[in-house]
Parts: sequence; C-alpha cells; structure tokens
Amino acid sequence: MKNVNDLQVNGKVVLVRCDFNVPLKDGVIRDDNRIVQALPTIKELLSKGARVVLMSHLGKVKHKEAPEVVEAQKVKNNLAPVAKRLSELLAMDVKFCSVTRGDELKSMVSSLKNGEVLLVQNTRYEKGEEKNDPELSKEWASLCDAFVMDAFGSAHRAHASTYGVPEVLKAEGKQVAIGYLVEKEVKSLSKVVNCEDRPYIAILGGFKVSDKIKVINSLLKKCDKILIGGAMAYTFIKALGGNIGNSPCEEDQLDYAREMYASGKILLPEDTKCANDFDNPTETKIVDSKDIPVGFQGLDIGPKTMKKYEAEIAKAKTIFWNGPMGVFEKEAYQSGTIAVCKACAELKDAFTVIGGGDSAAACKQFGYADKFSHVSTGGGASLEMIENDGHLPGIDIIG
Ligand code: ADP
Ligand code: MG
Repeated sequence: MKNVNDLQVNGKVVLVRCDFNVPLKDGVIRDDNRIVQALPTIKELLSKGARVVLMSHLGKVKHKEAPEVVEAQKVKNNLAPVAKRLSELLAMDVKFCSVTRGDELKSMVSSLKNGEVLLVQNTRYEKGEEKNDPELSKEWASLCDAFVMDAFGSAHRAHASTYGVPEVLKAEGKQVAIGYLVEKEVKSLSKVVNCEDRPYIAILGGFKVSDKIKVINSLLKKCDKILIGGAMAYTFIKALGGNIGNSPCEEDQLDYAREMYASGKILLPEDTKCANDFDNPTETKIVDSKDIPVGFQGLDIGPKTMKKYEAEIAKAKTIFWNGPMGVFEKEAYQSGTIAVCKACAELKDAFTVIGGGDSAAACKQFGYADKFSHVSTGGGASLEMIENDGHLPGIDIIG
C-alpha cells in the first residue's frame, strides 16, 4: 500500500479525505485533536509542492427529513470553523469552499497554487455521499490528480468520499495512498487484531450490549479475558439470574449474554455503585451486583470490582479498551473508569490501546491520554477493524 510519502505530486492537485468530524457547539470546536492529527499528512504534501484539497464530513445530515430540517442540520454542521482552526494550526491561509459541487468548487480548485490548501464544505451536504453515488464520486475524482486517505475515523464507511473517489482514480491509473494518521492507526490497531504479546485483556463497557455483539464475538477469539463494566454489565448479570433493580438491561440480548459468558473468558462486576435516580439521586450505595434493590440502578463498578480488574490489568501485555466503566460524565460515577485508566497507565511493558469516542474522552478528561500506547481517533472504525480482522473498506480500496 502506498503512503503519502511515496507520492510525486509537485504542482498536482491532491484530494485528502480527512476526519474533521470534531465536537462543535454553537460553531466553537470543543476538541481539535482530529484536526491536529491530520497535520503531518497535510504538511508532507505542502512540502512536496502539492495543491491540497481537503474533504471531510461533519455530524449528520439526514436528507430524508423535511427541507427545513435538512437546512438546519447543514447550518449546524457547517465546516467553516475547521478551516479557521486549520489556518491557525498551519500558520497559513486555508481557503474554504462553502459548497460541495459545481462551478464555484471547480474554479476554487483550479485557481489553487502550489503549496496552497483548500477545505471543501461538509461532504454530507451531498445526498449521494453516504450512498456512494457514482456520479458524485466521478465529479469529486475529476477535481484531482491524486488521492490520500487519512480519515481513519471514517474508514469503516464505504461512502463516495472514502471509497468511490479512490475507486474511480485507481481505475484511471492515478496515484492513491494512505496518510500518516491512517498508517499510525493501522500499525497500532494491528497489535490488538493479531495479538502476539499475552495475556491479552480486553476491557469493555459503555452503554449497550447490542452495539458491541460483533466485537465481543471477535474479541473472545482473540483475547484471554474480557473485563465487562458499564451499563451492559447488567444484561449479563440478569442473564445469569441476578437481580439488577432498575439498571438498564437489554432483554433481547439475555440468551446471547449467557452464550458469551459460557466461554469462561468474561469477568463481570462483583459489586456496583447504584443510585435511586439517574439525575437527582437522594441515596447512593455500593451493593452486590446480583442484588441491586428495586428502585436503584447501577451506575459504576464498585471497589471490589476495581481491585479485581486492576489485578487482571496488571498482568496484561496487551490491552484493548472500549467503553467507560460507569457514567463517567458525573463525578459520583467516575471511580471505576479512573481506576481502569490508572491501572493501564501503570503498566510498564504492555501495549495499551483505547478505541471508542467516550472512552478516549474519559481518559483525556482524567489526564491519562498520553499514558496509553495508542488512543484511536476512530471509535466505530477501531471496533470494526477488530470485528473484520483488520479490514476496513476505506483502507482496503487503497491497497
Ligand atoms: P465508547 O464511545 O467509548 O464506545 P459507549 O458510547 O459505548 O462508549 O458508551 C459510553 C456511555 O455509556 C457514556 O455516556 C456513559 O455515561 C454510559 N454508561 C456507562 N455506564 C453506564 C451505566 N451504568 N448506566 C448508564 N450509562 C452508562
Ligand atoms: Mg460513544
């Protein structure tokens, strides 16, 4: 597979698919990590004298909704603030094309000079983006001489900008390559897809079992143990006959949970911190996870579980972590997630990977992000990479 480093692109228009799907509130970027992570590829291309055209999606635009709803979603997910932040980070003027198709875009691309950068409006403004529409792919491909895939967080989607465009360009004999971020992600995640250093411990939490069925199936084949926390633990506990009070539970996943548990690799929380209300609790207590009283719901793993999980983590040589252990957004239910962060951070000779948007946000919030070997920029993409044994459509198409 070609890397951006291998390209000869002096004076050429290079289209780079980035993942600038950053958290935005009222037009203000809350976390620019994904923009920062895209800089090495952009700088490499600028140093080669390329004319750089950047594309990304941002948020959701649901084209089936009423026109005024679609319009509001477009306003909310306007990519213009990213161009501004990129200008600051690159210390140069980054041009912005506010439309995704047509003459204005064509003329902005053709007037680019060597070493200039243009960011194109949110690819999801186009109805055909998520459908991988061939006409749209052709039009975008016609704008450029070469393509670089650096949107790891979008590599599990075969959309026009992640799949259709490189497919067209490859057929035309044009250069396509992966960028430095995709290279880094693949290198790190490969170590949790094909693990060589054992014990390999997976830590899974977060909200739903149903979101994580495929990854649990896959991890059971790959790892030595799976430590379960978060809301999804209660589905397992109920499946094994426990009383979970008012804790969240997916009734339609109970059989599946029993089947998975029979593997002997799954560890469940022994104790739970529960409360009598999610928003305004008047009583919180630590109870046996199999004995959560009616009227109470589990919101974090308890201290015994933390000790047990810390001891398991301490033995690991490889860790993959997805999903917080509790409602880490609230101070009262952060302890479990912090304990896991800390136990992973203390490992000396282990390879530790976080894949998951909320888990990555939690480890950053608690100050442990730089203690992990790798914090993926793609939550869904990293899970799908494990599920599909290292394959993602947006990366496979480059090779
Ligand atoms: P990730 O983004 O890392 O894959 P998820 O999106 O699956 O993680 O889950 C994160 C969410 O799960 C968080 O918002 C957290 O508050 C929630 N969560 C974790 N434990 C519980 C619980 N016991 N009850 C309710 N929500 C929980
Ligand atoms: Mg999430």
